[in-house]
Amino acid sequence: MAFGWIDEQDRARHRAGLVRVLRPRDAASPLLDLASNDYLGLARHPEVVEGAVRAARTWGGGATGSRLVTGTTALHTDLERELADFCGFEAALVLSSGYTANLAAVTALAPHGSLVVSDAGNHASLIDGCRLARGTTQVVGHADPDAVRKALAGHDGPAVAVSDTVFSVDGDAAPLTGLAEACREHGAGLVVDDAHGLGVLGDGGRGAPRGAGLAGRDDVVATVTLSKSLGAQGGAVLGPARVIDHLVNAARTFIFDTGLAPAAAGAALAALTLLRREPERAARARAVAVELHGRLTAAGLDAVRPDAAVVSVRAPSPEGAVRWAADCRAAGLSVGCFRPPSVPDGVSRLRLTARGDLSGEQIERAVRVIGETRP
Ligand code: PMP
Repeated sequence: MAFGWIDEQDRARHRAGLVRVLRPRDAASPLLDLASNDYLGLARHPEVVEGAVRAARTWGGGATGSRLVTGTTALHTDLERELADFCGFEAALVLSSGYTANLAAVTALAPHGSLVVSDAGNHASLIDGCRLARGTTQVVGHADPDAVRKALAGHDGPAVAVSDTVFSVDGDAAPLTGLAEACREHGAGLVVDDAHGLGVLGDGGRGAPRGAGLAGRDDVVATVTLSKSLGAQGGAVLGPARVIDHLVNAARTFIFDTGLAPAAAGAALAALTLLRREPERAARARAVAVELHGRLTAAGLDAVRPDAAVVSVRAPSPEGAVRWAADCRAAGLSVGCFRPPSVPDGVSRLRLTARGDLSGEQIERAVRVIGETRP
């Protein structure tokens, strides 16, 4: 029977406690939200919403075509200029998501005969970029510049190293300076995914590459998402103009995809305007993460020290993690729940977002609920 094989996979998933279900969100949810990626609390900010509404009124509900045909509006080019300038890069290219931005960057920069050196903790979108690329991928140990150096040393031809700047499971930061040094020694490019760094790390939230002094270098490319700290949707690749021009001509997820919806571009531009005016929002998100971690640890929970705004708490088992998250929810707190295959080490976790707009009382309440519901 067609698709009959799915049933066996489904049974195996049930046996392992790894079934995923969709749960629609209530627009007026009374839950305290520590599950979303809205790090700065901007998704519902009136100026961001107004940016989306104005863009939709002017340009319509969709971009109407791929970027190279009808899908480039003045909004798209304004957003590209603003992203490049804010993050300190020469040029930028906006795509429909962070996922397609990662596919674009890795595939276009890893031609036949090239080597891609990929951190073992990288996000699925970077992993998929490696799978789609024509070059050969070598996965190296997590956050290990020496392993990157060794992998690059044995290769003759074009090469790139790819890494998240902040890893999405544990919220730890990559050793960007060491990675850049290893790449430079071997004439390799460095591609970093700053999905969790933009808006949180770097001066005023200008991102991890700028914070590490790597933005604007001719051998460094960054990808970002507009869907986390900017509270919008979409993604971008930032880098030297020659790299961005190459992507326009070679990156299939750019060329064959409909341009970003105008409302999303308008929302992202409004969020960047806000962030320029209120740079303290980034530091506040980092401070909330430190406070959240301190309180969780004091309560005896196994929380990983955060480098940005993601705080990860280890759970005893996948089933335990699911039950823990459900019990938190029943007590009014929404938290993320990461299980295999989304975690590289098989350890399930609660994943908490240290939103910059959380009050001290809300942080205290969240920690109390997590402590009281622990399995
Ligand atoms: N990279 C990382 C590290 C992410 O966490 C995510 C989002 N989960 C993405 C890329 C994909 O971004 P988007 O959701 O905009 O497709």
